[in-house]
Amino acid sequence: MPTTVTAYAAPAADQPLVRTTIERRDVGPHDVRIEIRYAGICHSDIHTARGDWGPVAYPLVVGHEIAGVVVEVGAEVTRHAVGDRVGVGCMVNSCRECAQCQAGNEQYCLNGMTGTYAAVDRDGSTTQGGYSQQVVVVEDFVVRIPDALELDVAAPLLCAGITTYSPLRHWGAGPGTKVAVVGMGGLGHMAVKLAHAMGAEVTVLSQSLKKQEDGLRLGADHYHATSDPDTFTALRGSFDLIINTVSAVVDLDAYLSLLAVDGTLVNVGAPAEPLPVQVFSLIPARRSFAGSSIGSIAETQEMLDFCAEHGLGADVEVIGADQVNEAWERVLASDVRYRFVIDTSTLA
Ligand SMILES: [Zn+2]
Ligand SMILES: [Zn+2]
Repeated sequence: MPTTVTAYAAPAADQPLVRTTIERRDVGPHDVRIEIRYAGICHSDIHTARGDWGPVAYPLVVGHEIAGVVVEVGAEVTRHAVGDRVGVGCMVNSCRECAQCQAGNEQYCLNGMTGTYAAVDRDGSTTQGGYSQQVVVVEDFVVRIPDALELDVAAPLLCAGITTYSPLRHWGAGPGTKVAVVGMGGLGHMAVKLAHAMGAEVTVLSQSLKKQEDGLRLGADHYHATSDPDTFTALRGSFDLIINTVSAVVDLDAYLSLLAVDGTLVNVGAPAEPLPVQVFSLIPARRSFAGSSIGSIAETQEMLDFCAEHGLGADVEVIGADQVNEAWERVLASDVRYRFVIDTSTLA
């Protein structure tokens, strides 16, 4: 028998979230049942629920920054036990057979990884996310949250953390490298903390200097306003790596001009509109423009262990479930420092 749990769901693209109930499947041999304690609010939740990225089925429960405790395990589960502190991020399954899954890059599954919400699960049902009391997930897609991390500050690491950690690692951020982070939001504030902890020299490029004090406190060495044209002249050719977290259209050529020879600009922000680029922003300095999507399960575990070792969590504002609609409006207005996290005990 499926279990009925309370959740906050979007009834339609243009309606506020409402308290409702959803069913979670029985725990299969390889599943774990997680009692969700905290669920982070990611900008993607809003885009998906409002149909900005294509049609979805309603009612829809979003949330892919899940931190909780294991309350039941299937007969053949070996990776987790009842009582374990665990997390679930943006994916809950993949095909496990393609070259990318075999290589441990299940986030790039050639048959499409299964998203934590609004995706068709391997059994044909639609996945429902973390704004709920419980979730049932196959054990391989559940990660361990180290004791040194509180669950509320750990929740946003499952999307914002891994989304920035993976490209920083892939493109070699570390001592002797200069990294710029564009945007000081949920993703940006984690990119600053992580790049600093990896030993890179970190510069924040933000629209204004409003969050400068925060940026420097989180580990940035330098902070510049992109509204000031002098920023682009002063920093020309400086960076080995730029992580762009902004999900709006920016002047890509201006940012590419800030890269050193062989530098890479990686977009993790996902604007719906195309980003035009002059090829001559790339050719004369062998620059690259790239994208990156979350990280593998193994890398997500590595990121959590790294965060525990360096005492890094997200900067969060914990809210009750009845504040979610208001929180969404504030996320859209960039009025959060730096991640809302729902205390899911308030769903009871
Ligand atoms: Zn997200
Ligand atoms: Zn695959």
